[in-house]
Amino acid sequence: MHYISTRDNKEKITCSQAIIKGISNSGGLYVPNEFPNIEDDLINLINSTYSELAYFILSKFLSDFTENEIRLCIKNSYDTKFSNGDVSFLKKVENSFFLELYHGPTLAFKDMALTIMPHLLQTSIKKNNLNKEILILTATSGDTGKAALEGFKDIENIKIIVFFPEDGVSPIQKLQMKTQEGKNTCVVGINGNFDDAQSAVKNIFADKDFNKLLDNNNYLLSSANSINIGRLLPQIIYYFHSYLKLIKDGEIKLFDKINFVVPTGNFGNILAGYYAKQMGLPVNKLICASNDNNILYDFFTTGEYNKNRNLKLTTSPSMDILISSNLERLLFEISDRNSDIVSKLLDKLNTKGRYEIPEYMKANLNCFYSEFSNEKEVEFTINKIYKNFNYLIDTHTAVAYNCYEKYKNDTLDNTKTVIVSTASPFKFSRDVLESITNTSYPTLNDFEILNKLSEVTNIDIPSPIKNLNKKEVVHNNLFEKDELKVAIKNFLKV
Ligand SMILES: *Cc1c(COP(=O)(O)O)cnc(C)c1O
Repeated sequence: MHYISTRDNKEKITCSQAIIKGISNSGGLYVPNEFPNIEDDLINLINSTYSELAYFILSKFLSDFTENEIRLCIKNSYDTKFSNGDVSFLKKVENSFFLELYHGPTLAFKDMALTIMPHLLQTSIKKNNLNKEILILTATSGDTGKAALEGFKDIENIKIIVFFPEDGVSPIQKLQMKTQEGKNTCVVGINGNFDDAQSAVKNIFADKDFNKLLDNNNYLLSSANSINIGRLLPQIIYYFHSYLKLIKDGEIKLFDKINFVVPTGNFGNILAGYYAKQMGLPVNKLICASNDNNILYDFFTTGEYNKNRNLKLTTSPSMDILISSNLERLLFEISDRNSDIVSKLLDKLNTKGRYEIPEYMKANLNCFYSEFSNEKEVEFTINKIYKNFNYLIDTHTAVAYNCYEKYKNDTLDNTKTVIVSTASPFKFSRDVLESITNTSYPTLNDFEILNKLSEVTNIDIPSPIKNLNKKEVVHNNLFEKDELKVAIKNFLKV
């Protein structure tokens, strides 16, 4: 197996090279040249642990990794970084199943990939005899930054620097980052908003002189963003794992089809579900759930992707996004892998802010369904699920569940359905608490809110944030938005 670019069919590289490069020379994203079909293997995988299944699936894709290398990457992530040794949980609520992907070190599903991706990158560096140190550069609006820091801490030959808007993240998110351990980590607050931080980081990637300076000091820039194929592949695993768990629990029979509902932002998570389907997982519908930023709903219902609109800030901030980068990989598949068409569409998005796909591509979208939920519906859903089933969900998962209810009403489909649950309710505790009590708490700070949510629901605060306010603040950098290079130079001492 090798990897090709969505914008240039001729570019062919190994898996480890794709993981190091992240993005192709033509600006496209790397994809495997084909999807291995593992339908006939399902019967033998039913009793596999998460790590065994991870090995089976990843070994199909990490073609230039040895068995030992893959096993070591898995051992250093899924075997050690998750609470109780369980990587994912499936909870039955009424007639649907919540796939809880938030039991990792930072309480969001980003951990499913960011615990293993640093090890994949480190192995790739060694395989290619790259005698350089990698500097991971990331701008974050909260969750990605912490998950990347936690994943990359103390990984040899890699350093990581994270920029966040000083006044644009929650106090808990800020403290999660400022107390980050690991000698190779650096966290920097920026006077500016997330877009300022993001575009400043993009400028640094494109800054030839600065890259030359880094090169002279033996550093190579890279990113932990979800366009990296090393972040996408590990996400295929839990789609298979939840399906096999349903068989094991007697809820479905082998080869029965199921639906997945995925709260979607950058389109990485749901794309991994689509890849699983391409590999032979029996999937009926992939339901793409959006919040008030319903650009993907418009795309799936009309075939037009139009980012000429204002971004709305919602209570599900990880889905507040207008450019879903991984949609490019779906365009590649539904155009029957035509890199010319993908390049043209993405060019239009860059110049006009919109594109429309032709009919034959639209016809290839029939395994998708799309819905969106507004803020009131999210609040109401959290309240209802808690009152009726004594089950607590976060705002992103509530978007997904509400969209699923709309889907059921519209289609009368009663196929067994998995709701992909992406964050711990404690990560968004203020909105969750206000929803279940129908009260607002303007005088309580975020730590008091955590305690209150725990008191009201009788659920322990998850350990990664429980004693956060007792941890030592070790990162106190604050820079102007045009001073990122200074911050990097200080960190690297160059
Ligand atoms: C990142 C994130 C999402 C969106 O996932 P994508 O892969 O970007 O579509 C949804 N929910 C939570 C909690 C997230 O952190």
